[in-house]
Amino acid sequence: MPQIQQLAPHVADLIAAGEVVERPASVVKELVENAVDAGASAVAVELRRGGMGLIRVSDNGCGIAAAELPTAFLRHATSKLREPEDLGKIGTLGFRGEALAAISAVSRVEIQTRRREDRVGAVLRLEGGIPGETEESGAPEGTTILVRDLFYNTPARLKFMKKDSAEAAAAGGLMQHLALSHPDISFKFLKDGAETLHTPGDGRLDSAVYAALGRDFARSLLPVRGGGDGVSVSGFITQPLQCRGSRSMQVFFVNGRFIKSQLLTAALEEGYRNQIMKGRFPGCVLAVTLPVTAVDVNVHPAKTQVKFAQEKAVFDAVYHAVLDSLAEWGGPIPASPAAPKAAGNPQGDFFRSMDVKTYREQEASKPAAPPPKAPRPAWNTERAGFRLSDSAPPLSRKQPPERPVPGSRAPFPPLRGDAPDSVLKPEPAPPVTQAAFPAAEPPFVPAIPRRETELPGQEALESAEEAPWRIAGEVLRTYIVCESGDGCVWLIDKHAAHERVNFDRLNAALEPPMRQALLTPAAVELGREDGALLLENLPLLEEFGFSCEDFGGGAVLVREVPADLDAGDVAATLEEIAGKLRSGRSPAQRREALLHTMACKAAVKAGWKSGPEELRVLADKVQSGEIRYCPHGRPVAVKLTKYELEKMFKRA
Ligand code: ADP
Ligand code: MG
Repeated sequence: MPQIQQLAPHVADLIAAGEVVERPASVVKELVENAVDAGASAVAVELRRGGMGLIRVSDNGCGIAAAELPTAFLRHATSKLREPEDLGKIGTLGFRGEALAAISAVSRVEIQTRRREDRVGAVLRLEGGIPGETEESGAPEGTTILVRDLFYNTPARLKFMKKDSAEAAAAGGLMQHLALSHPDISFKFLKDGAETLHTPGDGRLDSAVYAALGRDFARSLLPVRGGGDGVSVSGFITQPLQCRGSRSMQVFFVNGRFIKSQLLTAALEEGYRNQIMKGRFPGCVLAVTLPVTAVDVNVHPAKTQVKFAQEKAVFDAVYHAVLDSLAEWGGPIPASPAAPKAAGNPQGDFFRSMDVKTYREQEASKPAAPPPKAPRPAWNTERAGFRLSDSAPPLSRKQPPERPVPGSRAPFPPLRGDAPDSVLKPEPAPPVTQAAFPAAEPPFVPAIPRRETELPGQEALESAEEAPWRIAGEVLRTYIVCESGDGCVWLIDKHAAHERVNFDRLNAALEPPMRQALLTPAAVELGREDGALLLENLPLLEEFGFSCEDFGGGAVLVREVPADLDAGDVAATLEEIAGKLRSGRSPAQRREALLHTMACKAAVKAGWKSGPEELRVLADKVQSGEIRYCPHGRPVAVKLTKYELEKMFKRA
């Protein structure tokens, strides 16, 4: 073994520098963070050859006193930390006193700076960390640092540099994060002379998002504001349907510092549970603010990770803020105890009290009468994120735009389909075949205000009480076709819509589900393993409306099933449930798996014939914005605007 010796300082410095300065983007990060800490209101960054040629960072911050300039480049030299206790309450981006030392150790640096109170500024040049003389200079207020020939003295590192374009892209990404985390600072970024980012620095996050991430992303966002337990959460999240194929658009800040955090990602994604498809991820720009003493930022050399003292409080604050934002926007939300009682909604009762099959049978035995018309509740088909004009940055949006609908505030009269009693006790009437869609009567349920252009047949069912949309029919026994008052055509997937209704109702679990006793209890053979699994989970099955007992030999005796489950489907459903119980690890996962199964099993199927009332209730929930996605995150409705149709027909 060679003799043990302490490393020469310049070798030790090079090793230490390697931890902080990995690539040009790390230099940009450290220098811009210094500018932010210096209280700048404008920061400009310029790169040549991906930063390998030149990196220039200028700010209009507080500047450095000429006498302190060489000190700033020593290792562990900082103005941001004095005592060990200070480490527990760091409010600046930098604190390690390593960046300038590390950067200057592996490049040629020139710094020019002037404090506001000084008449003349100073300039200092360093090469491989060795400073020259500090000279007087007529510098503007603030600091400008030039870094040239990065890694010129560390060939090993130089070899690992990617293409200039890749380095520039990495620095660009970093600039985005820095700009987003400080909307009050105007950031400018130039690559080989071309400006690729310029934020206004007007203090508004939406302006920064618009400038940094582009118009398309900005318009897919919903505002978030919430918090509790000393944690505040604000920013934007993507609408569920605008979710993306990766997590690259998840941007989190903690006390103004961009960080990567599995905890925050998990809290965000938990908020979207059951609203987005598998393999899709929400995007966000979320700022989490908490007391500096409640977060440890000194856990990573590049300071991109933090540790929270109260992880649960942070998780909860983000999760609930996301949930609230999605709920306010109008998408479906998992029920909370505070959720409005579904029983107050007459349409909820319709599905609660009726299984589809019975309904269908009763409906078929009724005389064909024109369905009643009713004014609809206010609708909100256009609850998109904030609207953006081409030129202007987005404006923050408090309330989603609501269209005034004539008569929308009128009381909600009972509808045939909404009143369980009247449906459950059908008047004795001669069965009429084809009752759902009698040939002579178009199935126009609530009608939109009549217009000049309408054909005579469309007047059939209109009266003074008019809804702002109507059902034009059903196609392929799967899709409800609607026309809305603003001239849009909607296709609604009836199974997906009904599945969502069922899911929300079951999830809310405000009252035990309706059950039906089987005339003769059914013995379902499942095999020993699956049978045992079901028997182990009897309370859970009870919760969903199944009453089962052990029948021996791997069979289960079923006495009662949920009212909306087709009796012929019981065995298959229990088999499916056993499969899900097998893969569900926690009780919550098992309950959720059952929710999905039962919501799906109780829903009308594509291909089944549906009555007009059934379709109307579903269409109504879509039109009112109550449901948007099936529990798997697939859209429930597709909307075609008049303009889109006209374009297809080359009319526009
Ligand atoms: P740290 O940021 O961790 O304190 P640095 O090596 O990045 O360490 O910087 C050392 C010191 O130099 C800082 O503490 C700060 O006082 C000063 N400094 C660096 N950059 C600037 C700047 N752009 N404007 C004003 N002061 C600066
Ligand atoms: Mg620093």
